[in-house]
Amino acid sequence: MATRLPEVDAVLVGVGLVGAMLGRELTRAGLRVVGLERGEPRFTVPDFQGPQIHDELRYSVRKAMMQDNTREAVTFRNNSRQVALPIRRWESFLPGTGLGGAAVHWNGQTYRFQESDFKMRSHTVERYGKNFLADEVTIQDWGVTAAELEPYFDRFEYLLGISGKAGNLKGQKIDGGNPFEDPRAREYPTPPMKEPYGSALFRKAAAGLGYHPYPQPSANLSQPYTNPEGLTLNTCMFCGFCERYGCEHYAKSSPQTVLLPVLLRDKNFTLRSQAQVLRINLDSSRKQATGVTYADGSGHEFVQPARLVIVGAFALNNVRLLLLSGIGKPYDPQTGQGVVGRNYAYQTMSSVQIFFDSKININPFMRSGANGTVIADFVSDNFDHGPHGFVGGAYVGEVMSHGRPIEFHPTPPGTPAWGAEWKKAVVRHYNHTSVLNVHGSSVATKSNYLDLDPTYKDAWGKPLLRMTFDFPENDLKMSAFITQKALEIGKAMGGQQVAGAGRKGPYTVTQYQTTHNTGGTVMGTDPNTSVVNRYLQCWDVHNVFVIGASNFPQNASYNPTGTLGALAYWATDAIVKQYLKSPGPLVRT
Ligand SMILES: Cc1cc2nc3c(=O)[nH]c(=O)nc-3n(C[C@H](O)[C@H](O)[C@H](O)COP(=O)(O)OP(=O)(O)OC[C@H]3O[C@@H](n4cnc5c(N)ncnc54)[C@H](O)[C@@H]3O)c2cc1C
Ligand code: SF4
Repeated sequence: MATRLPEVDAVLVGVGLVGAMLGRELTRAGLRVVGLERGEPRFTVPDFQGPQIHDELRYSVRKAMMQDNTREAVTFRNNSRQVALPIRRWESFLPGTGLGGAAVHWNGQTYRFQESDFKMRSHTVERYGKNFLADEVTIQDWGVTAAELEPYFDRFEYLLGISGKAGNLKGQKIDGGNPFEDPRAREYPTPPMKEPYGSALFRKAAAGLGYHPYPQPSANLSQPYTNPEGLTLNTCMFCGFCERYGCEHYAKSSPQTVLLPVLLRDKNFTLRSQAQVLRINLDSSRKQATGVTYADGSGHEFVQPARLVIVGAFALNNVRLLLLSGIGKPYDPQTGQGVVGRNYAYQTMSSVQIFFDSKININPFMRSGANGTVIADFVSDNFDHGPHGFVGGAYVGEVMSHGRPIEFHPTPPGTPAWGAEWKKAVVRHYNHTSVLNVHGSSVATKSNYLDLDPTYKDAWGKPLLRMTFDFPENDLKMSAFITQKALEIGKAMGGQQVAGAGRKGPYTVTQYQTTHNTGGTVMGTDPNTSVVNRYLQCWDVHNVFVIGASNFPQNASYNPTGTLGALAYWATDAIVKQYLKSPGPLVRT
């Protein structure tokens, strides 16, 4: 029998990035908020301190900070003719767990999606005609514009202290920044990070080919910064243990460095860790949530009544929780009806390796999660897609995040995969190789989706999330085209050998690509094709807001978290300024 707790104003499912942001804003508005986090509490001191935090075997290989998939996995198949099986070892994507979520061990590459991304379907039809899109592609507009989100992008970047260089200040193009970006109201809060040598070679080669290199916007800080919460971050030390690790130097923006010290002191906020939310509870009308049920570390169940439920449990978990709670109609790929689980998309990644003469020293060990130089010439619709027959794009950049000994040992094609020759090649090339990333978009299609697995269950007896995904033809074409451009840049950088190829199918969960899973609780203007309205409020249950990359109707070229952070502030504003004054649907159909 579950224990019933006293009612609170709002309950947060997950205290990762979204949870911490919403917790802070709702307590600031005077609400009593309980944050339920399934993982452990953790802090810069003592949890992220050296030397233990640089244990590559523990954090990178054995994924110590990731969701425990012995208790809660995801099942996977490439298409609906296959039987999905549980992912026993996270590789392709790495869902985080614990206070602060994945934003503790992220890289910090922090971008804004572009105007054309937010109206991808209407923009494509307008520019290329209605027959340009393949029938299987289900991209759609978001219901919000880049101009509407600009103040929220700005606020998020100033919370994090992002290091970067503006390319378009209030419509005026600025040398050295990204000339393709939409107008921004002010400069980045901190200047760009120092440019590593490999990135300088990239900058010269890309500019020589007529492209527009600029510094990657970074949540690894270039200088000390005190954010609007009064919290101070330090300068990044280029320690090389960034992605998959907490930062011991307070130099990477994360909930622990930019929000939690303030939130946890607020008497209106209560954090409960080891609290696994099992479902959102609905009243008899099924149009209003009454709170959530969660299990503590010993398995005992609690009912936490709340007037407002915020789901910020990471894209995949957001979708699963709605399906387990019976909120919204599940997507059926046979009929195309239903919305929850629809438009699951990913990111289409490839890379190019440049093997230099041994006089060129790249020093890959002295890098951070988000420093380097990139070009946006092939991002989104910044180039004419007409002759190519695909939509979407990719940024290309020299953004090597590390040279860690277990994971980084590039060797040229033709090198044996083991033995004395392999070792000789690793020694020869370790310090003389640079890597370009091709970070590509992912369109949504009719056949890629998420639902509940009919066979496999988690440690609490609930069905696992089932992922059905393969790379759409559109994205393979996009990847081949832009990877070819990266190979040309690699050659212009002076590599003795340049190797790489576009992404090939089928999609496999056995190789790391990105944790940029998107879709499944898509935002939009039509309840027949979206789960939440433009304020991220469930169409069907007005006091449930679902926030995360699960709101993206498809994925754009850039990393998602800048846009996710802007959306979180956009939704919070609507909750505080509109919903709390008059609870009910914020958009009428
Ligand atoms: C290795 C790695 C590198 C990345 N690098 C970048 C990058 O460079 N740039 C970028 O834009 N993005 C990057 N990301 C993605 C970025 O981390 C996420 O976009 C961001 O953390 C998402 O925030 P969120 O609040 O939605 O989810 P999270 O930060 O993951 O937080 C979700 C929280 O919910 C909790 N939770 C889940 N289910 C439940 C439940 N049932 N009950 C209670 N609690 C629950 C989880 O434990 C977690 O703490 C990276 C991710 C990874 C893993
Ligand atoms: S590379 Fe910089 S930001 Fe990343 S963990 Fe190291 S010191 Fe922190």
